[in-house]
Amino acid sequence: MAIPGYLIDQIRQSNNIVEVISEHLPLKKAGSNFKALCPFHQEKTPSFIVSPQKEIFHCFGCGEGGNVFNFLMKHEKMSFVEAVERLAERAGISLPKDREGYQEEISRISQERKNLFEINRHAADFFHRCLKSPSVAQKAREYLKKRGLAEETIDKFGLGYAPESGRALLEAAVGKGYKKESLEKAGLVVFSEKRNDYYDLFFDRITFPIADVQSRIMGFGGRVLGNRLPKYLNSPETSVFNKGKALYALNLASDSILKKNQVIILEGYTDVLTCHQSGIDNSVATLGTALTSDHVLIISRYAEEAVIVYDADTAGVKAALRGLDLLVGAGIKVKVVALPQGTDPDDFLRSQGAEKFQQEVSQALSLIDYRIKLVSENCDLNSSEGKVALVEEVLPTIARIKNLVEQKEEIKKVSQLISVDEETLLLELARINRKTYEWEEVSPREELARDIQQSTSRDGILKAEKGLLQVMINYPEEIETIRVEVAPEDFVMGEISRIVKVVYELYERKEPVKPAIIMDRIYGQDLQFSSKLNQIIASLAIEENRDEFSPEVVKGLVERVKMHKSEEEYIRIGEEVASLMDRGLSVEREKIEKFQELARKLKGSRDEGLSR
Ligand SMILES: [Zn+2]
Repeated sequence: MAIPGYLIDQIRQSNNIVEVISEHLPLKKAGSNFKALCPFHQEKTPSFIVSPQKEIFHCFGCGEGGNVFNFLMKHEKMSFVEAVERLAERAGISLPKDREGYQEEISRISQERKNLFEINRHAADFFHRCLKSPSVAQKAREYLKKRGLAEETIDKFGLGYAPESGRALLEAAVGKGYKKESLEKAGLVVFSEKRNDYYDLFFDRITFPIADVQSRIMGFGGRVLGNRLPKYLNSPETSVFNKGKALYALNLASDSILKKNQVIILEGYTDVLTCHQSGIDNSVATLGTALTSDHVLIISRYAEEAVIVYDADTAGVKAALRGLDLLVGAGIKVKVVALPQGTDPDDFLRSQGAEKFQQEVSQALSLIDYRIKLVSENCDLNSSEGKVALVEEVLPTIARIKNLVEQKEEIKKVSQLISVDEETLLLELARINRKTYEWEEVSPREELARDIQQSTSRDGILKAEKGLLQVMINYPEEIETIRVEVAPEDFVMGEISRIVKVVYELYERKEPVKPAIIMDRIYGQDLQFSSKLNQIIASLAIEENRDEFSPEVVKGLVERVKMHKSEEEYIRIGEEVASLMDRGLSVEREKIEKFQELARKLKGSRDEGLSR
């Protein structure tokens, strides 16, 4: 089954390479890229780089490289089609069986997502209007008032009330022309076999719309007003709603998080509301789940410090802490605020005020100190059980610390605390096999141009050809200049010639020329050959440096590649002529002329090269 390019592009774009790879190995941020220990060869210092901008990975150690599909093919030993199918599924894109259906399927999916957002928006407005109606929502309004929420906060967050009847939204929405099936798809109504009819998922609940960063409503949280269970209910997962990726109020908090370079992570919707109302507007909440790697990735885009505020209900703490090592691994500074037993941030803010809360935040313990505190509360750190418990509790976190100096400091601290020497702890750390290293920046490449122009060796021509390809892959605006001068066949290296052909094809069809796209187009029957090509593309794409390729350098590279073509021809014709003459045969006049012409041309370009 051939999968058309546009669909492959769409699937690739819907699967962030950083997110996909971090599902398989821990990635750390390194400048605009991410790095890891390479999964394809043994190493102790990370040389495996993932570039989210270029949508590729590359290993400086073993040369492995490619885009997100190639990663799965290599790592999970999949075929190309399997990798495409897997990622289509991951992104919620279903692949229809027949080719003609693709375009329809794509527009169907994007239409469906649009519909879901629209229905959710309609529902949010409906619930909000209900809340505003004193006759319907008296209990709900009293509840919110008791929690100290101002009218502006209620409006800003679009809070609502789902009436008791259990059919209010259903009837209102159907009245507006929405289909019951669409409401069901959005998770707003459920079908009951017993009643043989649909009814509202949320009834007699305060509703909290959960939006994405673009403020599109993905789903709802609902808090019950009576004594029914569950106390909190969320919309089910839909094609626009994924609890493991959503952070409540991120759309309202993102600016402040960026500005403060700090995110406060809370547990509940009302905690977030109270925080924002008190001016602590860099706060968000997870939706009743532990932090996932998706959350971490989102957070790492906004802030370098995360403060986790949990109420000190000890059962919950252990579970909550589990996700935090992920943050540490992403190079985020993690602090923990443990509020007094039985107090949630909401209570705390209302009883102690915002200033006291900020104070708690600024005095927050680092994750490791917090873990130490937890252990020391339960064990005697002088006993051997206590020592073992502490080491087991903190070392996995310490192992994830990005900064080596910081990591050493923590080891030292633990060593002093439990009177165990640092070497032993370091050995233990090594055993955990998570030891992180300072990232060594890739050394700047040697001055390419001088090298190439002076060299007549095969090494030189190789560099020239790679250089030209590198220019085209990274700066497509240069393709036109190169394309009119050099044909794909002019490249001596078979691999480069093949890639250039694809680059020209994309360019001529006015399609974007990007490393990840070239990789997809190159996919062929010969897997080994394609994977070699992908490695070349990845290495050239990841090492780019615009300054190295001034117009003069590009011109030099073009000349060098063209000259080589003449050289090859010169040698080929020369050998032919010599062989004919050896055998006493006549040589065609054109051949001689061609030979002389090439000789002149080569001499000329060499002289020109020398005079520079
Ligand atoms: Zn490698």
